[in-house]
Amino acid sequence: MNSPESKGTAIVTGASSGIGAVYAERLAARGFDLLLVARDLARLESAADRLRNAYGVRVEALKADLTQETDVLKLEQRLRSDASVSLLVNNAGVGANGSLADADPGQVQQLIQLNVVAVTRLASAAAKVFTGAGRGVIINIASVVALFPERFNAVYSASKAYVLSLTQSLNAELEGTGVKVQAVLPGVTRTEIWERSGIDASGIPAEMIMEAGEMVDAALAGLDQGELVTIPSLPDAGDWQAFVGARMVLAPNLSHRSAAERYK
Ligand code: NAP
Repeated sequence: MNSPESKGTAIVTGASSGIGAVYAERLAARGFDLLLVARDLARLESAADRLRNAYGVRVEALKADLTQETDVLKLEQRLRSDASVSLLVNNAGVGANGSLADADPGQVQQLIQLNVVAVTRLASAAAKVFTGAGRGVIINIASVVALFPERFNAVYSASKAYVLSLTQSLNAELEGTGVKVQAVLPGVTRTEIWERSGIDASGIPAEMIMEAGEMVDAALAGLDQGELVTIPSLPDAGDWQAFVGARMVLAPNLSHRSAAERYK
């Protein structure tokens, strides 16, 4: 049981490396107990030991392959049955390389299972539980390629556009419930994802690569400032607001009885 002043438990998926491992550390430092989720249990256990010792919080490691229905179900059930859970970082994700025409169908399926299906199901379970409790935070890790799909792998970019859209809809649905939602859109961040997805990152200019620690600290600062969408490297937040504003200019004309004149 958590004490009354406890922050509760944060679930971090993909906590065995990269961005997820940093979230685990930063959230432990903020006083959250942790449930760390990934496939590599040995790595999770060693992170758990380190964080328990450093911060005196409770840390549990859960081995789960979130491309597998049974493992997603297990985590959903945990979310639904553990009243201490107050924060979800939907972070686990894989990258991909190459064109859609040359894509391996099995790899496409796996990416969508992890980056889209698992994220959706966990966000849905968390939304239900957190709404009931009148509090909670859902952080979904998207990517800047959600905004610039021509620059990157099609399935990966589309999966991240989905995460951004899901977060925006979810935020509208949860208005007034006390539940906070955030989409984080990292640019290139130094983690294992590049090597894991067979992408040679050596050609990426150093000025474009952020360290994972700096990325997560900025994302948490954005959360503290109440941002729905955080783009850690964007110097002027007004540029994002202008982008959202341009979308709203379209809004009154997106559904009419008649087609536009130019189509007649
Ligand atoms: P990473 O170091 O490769 O970490 C990925 C994490 O996901 C690992 O903990 C991995 O652990 C876990 N994972 C992979 N497949 C899994 C599965 N089937 N089931 C459960 N966990 C699984 O990459 P990262 O850069 O930190 O990525 C974290 C998130 O940031 C991803 O959603 C990624 O798309 C996003 N992102 C990254 C960048 C970047 O440039 N690095 C930019 C934008 C967005 P196991 O292998 O132990 O399962």
